[in-house]
Amino acid sequence: MADLGHFVGGKAVGNGRGRLADVFNPATGEVAARVALATASEVDQAVQNAKAAFPAWSRTPPLTRARVMFKYKELLEKNRETLARAIGAEHGKVMADAAGEVMRGIEVVEFACGIPHLLKGDFTENVGTNVDTYSMRQPLGVCVGITPFNFPAMVPMWMFPIAVACGNTFVLKPSERDPSTPLLLARLLLEAGAPAGVLNVVNGDKEAVDALLTHPDVAAISFVGSTPIAEYVYRTGTATGKRVQALGGAKNHMVVLPDADMDQATDALMGAAYGSAGERCMAISVAVAVGSAGDQLIARLAPRVRGLKIGPYTDPEAEMGPLVTKQAYDRVKGYVDTGVKEGAELVVDGRGLKLQGYEKGFFLGGCLFDRVRPEMRIYREEIFGPVLSVVRTPDYEQALGLVNAHEFGNGTAIFTRDGDAARDFASRAQIGMVGVNVPIPVPVAYHSFGGWKHSLFGDHHMHGAEGVRFYTRLKTITARWPKGIRAGAEFVIPTM
Ligand code: NAD
Repeated sequence: MADLGHFVGGKAVGNGRGRLADVFNPATGEVAARVALATASEVDQAVQNAKAAFPAWSRTPPLTRARVMFKYKELLEKNRETLARAIGAEHGKVMADAAGEVMRGIEVVEFACGIPHLLKGDFTENVGTNVDTYSMRQPLGVCVGITPFNFPAMVPMWMFPIAVACGNTFVLKPSERDPSTPLLLARLLLEAGAPAGVLNVVNGDKEAVDALLTHPDVAAISFVGSTPIAEYVYRTGTATGKRVQALGGAKNHMVVLPDADMDQATDALMGAAYGSAGERCMAISVAVAVGSAGDQLIARLAPRVRGLKIGPYTDPEAEMGPLVTKQAYDRVKGYVDTGVKEGAELVVDGRGLKLQGYEKGFFLGGCLFDRVRPEMRIYREEIFGPVLSVVRTPDYEQALGLVNAHEFGNGTAIFTRDGDAARDFASRAQIGMVGVNVPIPVPVAYHSFGGWKHSLFGDHHMHGAEGVRFYTRLKTITARWPKGIRAGAEFVIPTM
């Protein structure tokens, strides 16, 4: 069995030392590896390595840094299948989905290849007579990423390629549930030519996170995970003077109007609710069926949910895999039990699923609830599993009201043929990412990803222009040369 450690200063360290956590193969339920959980002093070593690498890396011309990114992109493409396998083995998602996640990460690296252009500043000649002003964006120092289990490649790659291309150095603290992929990503960046210490990985749990949040040499923190931890990270990090962006949980609603193409809406709901076993922050977990859409959707969804192809990541036919851990399985199953007790109508019950040969795996069948009401826990809370709730409303205004009243504001979608309704929805939804006949509106790398309300704490979304802004700070220089200097001291604010 593999013992996984950390990757610090360009080397693997800490294998099999100190506190360890089990890493499971979710399909078989067996322990596949053990991962070291870093102590505060191991975290400090990683930060010191990043700090030592910062002066030279931040002075390296952006074009040279971009060339490392070009090489990195090539290596990631070459290793795409290896990375996808590592994801499938520890997360459980099917291979095609895992390869898709790697691709979405590579797209951020492609964006980071354009960093010389993205870092170009502004220049104004003659803001006053013979006085020029120019501005530039400079890196922050040591940046930290703390990431969730559900996208072990893509979410770290929302962060470090842009941070590093901007001239920062980085310490990544990935999820302890699927640590192999982030370690591979770090090795490949070293191979691409990033100096040792530019990207470090420390595995760990709360102890490592707390050490990073309070470390005096850490300048900025990017977090993605559940809302309570996002809020904690935001409060603790900002209290110690750091720049923090912390993305939290979600409860994404898809509003279906009666004029929508119901077959298209059903396809969209199937993929968005059950893909990756619902373990996506942009999964649709609530379908808001307006008027007659309710009966039409339930009639189409029920047989499709019963017929979901569920299997291990190695099965090319499988549409979804298991949940990540036994704990996640118990939590999601517990929510289904709660929904039944609360009086929602369980149209498809996936709780009894057993896969031959994988009896100990964390597989839960697709579950479909109808007539879910807003006061129910299964509506209010994030379930993060293959459970879709259908809520019925009589009209569009009430559907929009539900979307806007919910605690979370990550993503939402509307399915309709009515342009006026879609335009109104895009304008009035209190949500960070909106889809029109697109169920999972995840922005591409050169736009930015982020939610509103309790789905994001902080001021910046991730990647795209927002990422460059987050990982740099603005400096504005006003200059004149001897010829332009006026005689005598000036005691009044210059108005040029
Ligand atoms: P999580 O909050 O349990 O863990 C996220 C990170 O925080 C991990 O690195 C973990 O080690 C660390 N952590 C966990 N408990 C901690 C504690 N008490 N103190 C300090 N650090 C702690 O989340 P998860 O279960 O890995 O991921 C699923 C969650 O992430 C879901 O809520 C999902 O919606 C959310 N998510 C959000 C987005 C987004 O973009 N908004 C994207 C992906 C996942």
